[in-house]
Amino acid sequence: MDIIKTENYYRTLNGNRLCSCDYCRNYYKEVKETYPELSDYLVGMGVDVEKPFETMPLEPYEGIIEYIAVQYIVMGNATVFKSADVNGIHIDIANSHPETDIDEEHFVIEISPIRLKWTV
Ligand SMILES: [Zn+2]
Repeated sequence: MDIIKTENYYRTLNGNRLCSCDYCRNYYKEVKETYPELSDYLVGMGVDVEKPFETMPLEPYEGIIEYIAVQYIVMGNATVFKSADVNGIHIDIANSHPETDIDEEHFVIEISPIRLKWTV
């Protein structure tokens, strides 16, 4: 994986290219505060936790929402990537994901599960 290219990807990823549905907006708003160590871990890979590629939410229940999985793009190839667990969150290569429309070499990781307050 290429941390510098991944950092650049997230730096130039404009907020208006991100999904604006309630599930995603809630995720952007709550994830960093709820999971600071996970956020730091992803930063170490060049990934911005507030700019997911894809979220898979369940319906909010009693003020809590669970995302079965959330996916992120990482630039480069997956050879040095190792799956990990950070505070009970599993980080691994995504088995399947939507088209990314990125020409350069990249791969998609998946973190799961994520539980957040429902505040939007
Ligand atoms: Zn969305």
